[in-house]
Amino acid sequence: MTPVQTRSIPFFNYPHLFTSEEEELVAIFRDVGRRGAFILQQDLERFERNLASYLGAKHVLGVANATDGLIIALRAAGFGSDPREEVIFSSHTMVATASAIHFAGGTPVPVECGLDHLIDPASVEAAITPRTRAILPTQLNGRTADMEALQDIARRHGLQILEDAAQALGSRFNGQGASTFGAAAAISFFPAKLLGCLGDGGCVVTNDDAVYDRLLQLHDHGRRADGEIISWGLNSRLDNLQAAILDYRLDSYPVAIQRRREVASLYQARLGEIEELTLPPAPTSAGRHFDVYQNYEIEAQRRDQLREHLKGRGIATIIQWGGKAVHQWPALGFTQRLPFTDALFERLLLLPMNLSLTDNEIHEVCDAIEDFYRG
Ligand SMILES: *Cc1c(COP(=O)(O)O)cnc(C)c1O
Repeated sequence: MTPVQTRSIPFFNYPHLFTSEEEELVAIFRDVGRRGAFILQQDLERFERNLASYLGAKHVLGVANATDGLIIALRAAGFGSDPREEVIFSSHTMVATASAIHFAGGTPVPVECGLDHLIDPASVEAAITPRTRAILPTQLNGRTADMEALQDIARRHGLQILEDAAQALGSRFNGQGASTFGAAAAISFFPAKLLGCLGDGGCVVTNDDAVYDRLLQLHDHGRRADGEIISWGLNSRLDNLQAAILDYRLDSYPVAIQRRREVASLYQARLGEIEELTLPPAPTSAGRHFDVYQNYEIEAQRRDQLREHLKGRGIATIIQWGGKAVHQWPALGFTQRLPFTDALFERLLLLPMNLSLTDNEIHEVCDAIEDFYRG
């Protein structure tokens, strides 16, 4: 007999983001609303300061979303004068990484990822041409790329590094936080991201004062603090209300990371022996990587059947990016051939990984996967 299915396990529980702290959030809304503090107010400044100190970075600037953040970061780092300038990125990323390069005025060049699904340094090196100006690694799934290897390549070829750290707040490599390795980086506060707000939001991180000055202008109509317009600019500000919510959530963020790492350990303990699966690196504090598990991305044999099986048990999974790497979208016109990434995308699957999951639910997911391969 199949067990009675009492409820389903969604991939991400959006209402939980609000209902788990409803009273506190409504109190913040009331406070901000009564002060009329909607745009560029003290709550935003406080959040930017607190996040910078959490990251060990000099500057954090709230922006409307991480995609805008990447565009502005590239522009502030000097891109935009020549569309032939190439920026290398891993094709296993959101299309936003590539579109940011495109809209900043450059040419996005996709390369392979490695066994851990992050940008492969050897493929980066092989893709360098006389027009290459920067490497833009995506710190994917809450893990930071091998920044030692990338910084070495960048030094030898005179390239800049910028980071898509949309998925990597709190992730570290050799003890250094993702988003602090290059000229600038963007982090996302989209609801389903590690630190989610109640809508769109993001920030740019930089240790460079001159880059920060240009970021400030670019995100607010080219305005200087005294109101003088000194360049062309956009409107891409982080709402003060969202910043107030994010600042409140930042306090408990280390606990949230701990829970994500616990969930990863549970998956590892339950699924580690199944030969048909390849799991992400397990959480350790000893090695070079400190991972924060934005996602739990496995490789699975008979992936599509497994997905159907889980769906039948009320368990939702996702194939990241709608099932395609960036270079696989025909409309974008890429000509690069990336066989490793192509083969990988036949096997990739995201299991539920979020703060609403109970241990019992994780066991349910693991039971269902075990039944599929062993049943
Ligand atoms: C979510 C995400 C983005 C875009 O973030 P937004 O804040 O939604 O613009 C970019 N890159 C990666 C890797 C992401 O996961």
